[in-house]
Amino acid sequence: MIIFGTSSSIIHPAKLDGGCCPFCKTENQMWIQGYRKYFHIFWIPFFPSWKKVYSICSHCKGVFEKYEFESKELIKCFEYFENHKIKTPWYHFTGILILLALIIGIAVVPFLTK
Ligand SMILES: [Zn+2]
Repeated sequence: MIIFGTSSSIIHPAKLDGGCCPFCKTENQMWIQGYRKYFHIFWIPFFPSWKKVYSICSHCKGVFEKYEFESKELIKCFEYFENHKIKTPWYHFTGILILLALIIGIAVVPFLTK
């Protein structure tokens, strides 16, 4: 039985403003999406590790990296979304929060009951 390891979750996609697909050249159909790996113990996420961000064309379903874009506007928009919109989900820290609550409980409760 595996009690610890890594897993990943998809971070919500968002539509990029402007630009065209590097493959099918369809205008204004590019989306940004990412996933983040996290370490878990007994399937409870403890802390996040690396993230991967990429772009999808909703017309041809192609998946592209930032370096494949030709339009500077699209690269700028991708970088903005990568830094401001693709956030780590809060539940990736669930294990740490449970651990902190236990530590605080063990440290504080004996003083409250006296
Ligand atoms: Zn396309």
